[in-house]
Amino acid sequence: MKKYNSLAEIQALLHTKQLDLPELLNYYFKQIETHQHLNVFNEVFFDSAKSRAALVQDKIDKGTAGKLAGMVIGIKDMILYKDHVTSASSKMLKGFVSPYSSTVVERLLKEDAIIIGSTNCDEFAMGGSNETSYFGPVRNAADTERVAGGSSGGSAVAVQADLCLATLGTDTGGSVRQPAAFCGCIGLKPTYGRISRYGVIAYASSFDQVGTLTSSIADAALLMEVLAGADDQDSTVSRLPVPAYTDGLADSRPRKIAVLKETLESDALDPEIRSSILEAIDQFKAQGHTVEYVSFDLLDYLVPAYYILTTAEASSNLSRYDGVHYGYRNTEAKSLNELYKKSRAEGFGEEVKKRILLGTFVLSAGYYDAYYQKAQQVRRLLRDKIELLFNEFDVILSPVAPTPAYKIGENTQDPLVMYMADIFTVLASLTGVPAISIPLGNNVNGLPLSLQLMAKHFHEEVLLSLSNSFMDVTSAKVQ
Ligand code: GLN
Repeated sequence: MKKYNSLAEIQALLHTKQLDLPELLNYYFKQIETHQHLNVFNEVFFDSAKSRAALVQDKIDKGTAGKLAGMVIGIKDMILYKDHVTSASSKMLKGFVSPYSSTVVERLLKEDAIIIGSTNCDEFAMGGSNETSYFGPVRNAADTERVAGGSSGGSAVAVQADLCLATLGTDTGGSVRQPAAFCGCIGLKPTYGRISRYGVIAYASSFDQVGTLTSSIADAALLMEVLAGADDQDSTVSRLPVPAYTDGLADSRPRKIAVLKETLESDALDPEIRSSILEAIDQFKAQGHTVEYVSFDLLDYLVPAYYILTTAEASSNLSRYDGVHYGYRNTEAKSLNELYKKSRAEGFGEEVKKRILLGTFVLSAGYYDAYYQKAQQVRRLLRDKIELLFNEFDVILSPVAPTPAYKIGENTQDPLVMYMADIFTVLASLTGVPAISIPLGNNVNGLPLSLQLMAKHFHEEVLLSLSNSFMDVTSAKVQ
């Protein structure tokens, strides 16, 4: 059982002086200490967190504190925080001190959140199990022999094991939703362009989004309110006004839900996940929503298109790590070319190198048309298809992952198995729509199960309110 499940709970205790911030922070520091074996944090920001706790407590006493006062939050080690180390869980950036803060960090701090540390992840967010991290895998708190999911594995276990109240992750092809699913928390990937990525280390820029991992929908809504919205530093962020997501949570309007038939029929889908989703569908119907099964015939193209496009973008984004500007440098090289080669060969891990090579290949003359351009065309088809679906439906429902958390080492030998496990999450990433992963209780072995909901671009409030009313009813099943 977690001690605190939402910010509202903590704020009530703070306001009645049954708790103060230094005490709250100490609680989480102790939790981190006793759960070190889970390998969740790459860095714990003891000093800055303590001084902020004192500062925010002072504001609470004076009645001037911001919306997030009392929120102790972890940030994925892809998100820059001035004067703190950000490493992308890579040898390449080990010990790199951020010269400035990302917009998301600025916004958290402005509303008086306390950032407790940076969470472990797959190297440069490339992976689905947190096993590619230079700092080793994160362990799932439900079964420490199992993976946390990835790439935001540390962010998920931090929430699961009560090491802080909430975390930020990044989601390029499922990296917030899938670890949330493996760890029984709520993972929200907003619409592409909803939240600024200024100061967030890039993996694949036409996919990357910052997302939240929380124990309550209310906290996800609140974080969205704080983080979303235009940013002069990032021109890919939409100027659309940011709704009051927290006010919209009580909206219980009946929704039209489409279930992607092929995703539930897939042989690869774990039977317990299937049956818990079927139960959830009954629950949605009982709540007055309409549910219809629709066919989605492009399922086979999702994973190939995703891996062609993201590796192409990664090969370009990661060219900046050259051993000259910043990051790891080989000190024995005798020429500039040798310096580039050795620094990159020694600084990057195997998975990252594999993707840079693959991305360079699909972009190279002669293969560009066959792979990169084809994949772009598939992306267009997917976008058209999903728009058609959203003309008729408010929400699309599918699984998050084909299986619950698997054993550490179980899938590392065969990259295809690992890549194929992204089949249900990459649709929202390829099309840019928002998606949420919500818990459905545990299987017979105590491993978390979950489902995914997607909505139209910039309709996060639909996901949040629908999930909220769903979880109100099913909360007895959630840890
Ligand atoms: N598992 C996917 C990949 O390896 C997703 C990663 C992510 O969303 N950052 O690309």
